[in-house]
Parts: sequence; C-alpha cells; structure tokens
Amino acid sequence: MQCDVVIFGGGVAGLWLLDTLVERGQAAVLLEAGDLGSGQTVASQGIIHGGLKYTLQGLLTSSAANIAEMPGLWRECLHGRRTPDLSQTRVRSEHCHLWRTDSIASRMGMIGAKFGLRVAPQTVANDERPEALRHCPGDVARLDEQVISPASLIANFAARHAGRLLKIDATAGLRFETTSQGVSRIHLARPDEPHETLTFEPRFVVLTAGAGNAGLRDLVGLSSQAMQRRPLHMLMVRGRSLPVLNGHCVDGSRTRVTVTSDVDSDGRTVWQVGGQIAEEGVTVDPRTLVERGRRELEAAIPRLELSQAEFATYRVDRAEAATSGGRRPETFQVLRDGNVFTAWPTKLVLAPVLAESLGATLASEGRPSMSAFPSFAQWPVPTVALPPWEAAAEWHTTTSPVRRAA
Ligand SMILES: Cc1cc2nc3c(=O)[nH]c(=O)nc-3n(C[C@H](O)[C@H](O)[C@H](O)COP(=O)(O)OP(=O)(O)OC[C@H]3O[C@@H](n4cnc5c(N)ncnc54)[C@H](O)[C@@H]3O)c2cc1C
Repeated sequence: MQCDVVIFGGGVAGLWLLDTLVERGQAAVLLEAGDLGSGQTVASQGIIHGGLKYTLQGLLTSSAANIAEMPGLWRECLHGRRTPDLSQTRVRSEHCHLWRTDSIASRMGMIGAKFGLRVAPQTVANDERPEALRHCPGDVARLDEQVISPASLIANFAARHAGRLLKIDATAGLRFETTSQGVSRIHLARPDEPHETLTFEPRFVVLTAGAGNAGLRDLVGLSSQAMQRRPLHMLMVRGRSLPVLNGHCVDGSRTRVTVTSDVDSDGRTVWQVGGQIAEEGVTVDPRTLVERGRRELEAAIPRLELSQAEFATYRVDRAEAATSGGRRPETFQVLRDGNVFTAWPTKLVLAPVLAESLGATLASEGRPSMSAFPSFAQWPVPTVALPPWEAAAEWHTTTSPVRRAA
C-alpha cells in the first residue's frame, strides 16, 4: 500500500510525531517491534524539565533554550487545551522540589539554579515542605516542573491512534528495498502468521526507535555510527511508609539524586532514583548499587527511614545522535538520508519540538497523498510497556538476601 510516512518505533518521539502528521492530513502508520515505550520512555522519570540541569551546568545555550518553553506547552496538552490532547495522561506531581546537602558546593548549585529558568524556583515555608524534606538543612525550593506517568502518556497516544499502530517482527519479518533516493518499499511478515505479508511504498520513512535506530540504519544500508548510547543504572525503592517525593538534590553543578514517586500495583510508594548515582552506578552490580544508593539517600535526606524499604535496580541506555566526546546533544537531533529521517528527541520533553520540526519538513515536500487508509484490524497491535518497578524480577532489602517479586 502507498502511504506518506512509515514511522519505526513507538516511544514518545514516534507517537508524538504520528499525532502531528495525522493532524496535518498525512497518511502515516507506526511500526513497533516490542512494547510501546519499552526502550527509554517508560523507564524515564517523566519530569517535564524546563532547563534546570542545563542551567546548573552552564549549558543553557540558545539552541537548548527551547527546553524553557516545554513546561508551558506540555501543561496545555495535559489540560486538553491544545493538540495532542493528553488529558488522559496521569500527572504524578504538579511540581518538583529542589534541596541541597550541607556542603558549600551544593549551596552554590542552589544559587545557580535560580538563573536561566522561565520560572525561578520559589523557596517554600517550612510547613509546606514535603514530608521527606522536613529536616533538610537550608532552603527547599519548589520548581514549576510537572512529573507525569510516562506509561500513561504512551497509553494516551495509543488510544488516540488505534488502527495506525502495527506490531512487527523487526528481525525475520522486516525487509527494505532501497534505491539511491532511500527506501522504496518495506516488506513486513505478520509476527504470528509469517506467511501473511504487507508491503508499504512510503514517501518518507522516519526512524524513532531509540536504541533500535542503529540496527534499522544498518538494515537500510546507513551508518550505525551516527548513534551514541549513554548508560544509566537506576535505583528503585518501594515501601508502604515511603513518603511521596519528586525533586532534585543539588550538589554544585550536579543533581546528586533525582527522585520521582509513583504507586505500584500493590499500593506501595515506589521511588525511581536517578542523577549522579545512576550515572556513576553503571560499573557496579545491583547489590553494590543498592548499598551505595541507600547510603546516598540517607546522606541527601536527613532522618529518612528506610529500614522497611525494598530496593531494585534497572539498566537502560540513553540513545542519542552521536556527539564529539560523547556528550549529551544540546537538543533533539534529526539526520536525513534521501527519504529516510533518523530522529532522537534527546529528552522526553523535547518530543513536541522534534515532531513540529519534522512535521514541517515533511509537509514542505509535497502535499499529503490523502490516500484512504485500509483497516489493519487483522494485524497484531502492540501493547504498552510495563513500568520498571512492575517488570523488575529481584527486590533486595539491605539486610536480607534477594527476594523475588510475585
Ligand atoms: C532512566 C531515564 C530517565 C529519563 N528521565 C527523563 C525525564 O525525567 N525527562 C525527560 O525529558 N527525559 C528523560 N529521559 C530521556 C527520555 O526518556 C528519552 O529521551 C525519550 O524517552 C526517548 O524517546 P524515543 O521515543 O526516542 O525512544 P524510546 O523511548 O527508546 O522508544 C523507542 C521505541 O522503538 C521501539 N523499537 C526499537 N527497535 C525497533 C525496531 N527495530 N523497529 C520498530 N520499533 C523498534 C522500542 O520498542 C520502543 O518502543 C530519561 C531517560 C532515561 C533512560
């Protein structure tokens, strides 16, 4: 079948782009090899950043500055006041908190955080502090950055585009025909019935498969060196008496720990813990990270009670366009090779500007075909990935050996 755009990968980048293209009248379809959002998006902390981390590190350059507009744009979508309507996405917190440990370096960090943000952090009164931060020395500030549930964001998009999302077998069930202009045909074999096939003749192909972009570029005959991975080893903590907390402990120019909270299917509070600890934890095993993480949390949050808590870890790579020195790209990245675009949002919050930019490029290259889309009702549909705490196999207490999840 002929269509305007075939998108590979249903994380936040691919789904937001699909939405934008459909709104612009393009005949677009999205092909997903695993579960929707299963790479980084569902594993992410869901913070709608306005540039805090960039500001702390002195990186809020003009090309990174569009991140400052993101909290406002997302808020409009989350209220259903602009497309895409994300009113079915769960907001876990309306803001983040910023606090510091007692070192001089971390005091400097708090000061630095006040510059360059669209809305500066506001110091909160002692009785308005979140329970977990009651005993912190120094100021606690509130930052206008919402925290969303990434899994519910993906589910929100999936509901908007049922019928345009197809599950594929990206190894045995996928073949590209290429010309000097890029991809001319995409041949798919149905994952559960390989003798049933489907062939697309797309005007454009967009790869938004996160870390999967490297393999897809290989299949299309393009260099996979265009991508870099920056690994993280994230900590999770769960417990019935764990307080809800969303925010960053600032230490100099770094976020020492970044904590976001959710509730698991058993009603326990779950923390995802990222920041410096997750960057430095990539070289250690889960048990060591758990021990290190517990000490770090107790140092960052005075009088935190973790004796009943359980801990788990997960590893995930941030997949981005390659940069010299392997640093984080300043903003979203798009590469073009003929009719093939490869895109990485760099941050979840930048998915809207990536979609807007790519949508405008594709729209500028000829009118949409407006071809009537057939129903794909018979084709398998991808499901939404589970959040990492529901998928984790092993939970530890710091005193007892490994426990397995039910
Ligand atoms: C631990 C962690 C925390 C983060 N926290 C934040 C945060 O708080 N705020 C923020 O703004 N950003 C955050 N980020 C960054 C953010 O998560 C990513 O930039 C963003 O989710 C990337 O989205 P994506 O759609 O490009 O890729 P992904 O989310 O990785 O999605 C790729 C999709 O492609 C599919 N796929 C893979 N291979 C193929 C193939 N061959 N064919 C078809 N489909 C394929 C995958 O199954 C997946 O569904 C975080 C990242 C990590 C790792």
